[in-house]
Amino acid sequence: MPRRVLIAGGGIGGLAAALACARAGWGVRLLERAPVFTEVGAGIQLGPNVVRVLNAWGLGDALTAVAAFPECLQVRNAVSGATLAELPLGQRTVRHYGAPYATVHRGDLQGPVDGGRLPAR
Ligand SMILES: Cc1cc2nc3c(=O)[nH]c(=O)nc-3n(C[C@H](O)[C@H](O)[C@H](O)COP(=O)(O)OP(=O)(O)OC[C@H]3O[C@@H](n4cnc5c(N)ncnc54)[C@H](O)[C@@H]3O)c2cc1C
Repeated sequence: MPRRVLIAGGGIGGLAAALACARAGWGVRLLERAPVFTEVGAGIQLGPNVVRVLNAWGLGDALTAVAAFPECLQVRNAVSGATLAELPLGQRTVRHYGAPYATVHRGDLQGPVDGGRLPAR
């Protein structure tokens, strides 16, 4: 008999747990109390460690379709606009950490993929 798991909460943690359990062959039931996901910080930044996991779960193409992959991150003076610091990302992040740095809208990250079916790896 397959193992079954009940997950409370369809946030990033709950969805990730549900996907990992489903990948491992468990039957998953996920309960979310909110009728809709409201905006909690529209933009989510995903480090290469997270992108690597999403790629391994077969979500690479789905992520590429909705995410932006910035070439660098700049910290600027709010008054003058002068650059105070810069962190190169893009291909440098891929070389160093095996995956890019991504930014994505939270609704796209938590939204259904491929009609709600589990993506192929
Ligand atoms: C403004 C802002 C910006 C952020 N930016 C980033 C970022 O750029 N990168 C990043 O990695 N992280 C970011 N974070 C942090 C990130 O959003 C959280 O770490 C992440 O959402 C936590 O996921 P979670 O699943 O644990 O909780 P949540 O996302 O809070 O999800 C919990 C879910 O459980 C549901 N729930 C609660 N109780 C029950 C119940 N009893 N029954 C059923 N459902 C229930 C809630 O309705 C909710 O949908 C940001 C957070 C904020 C607030």
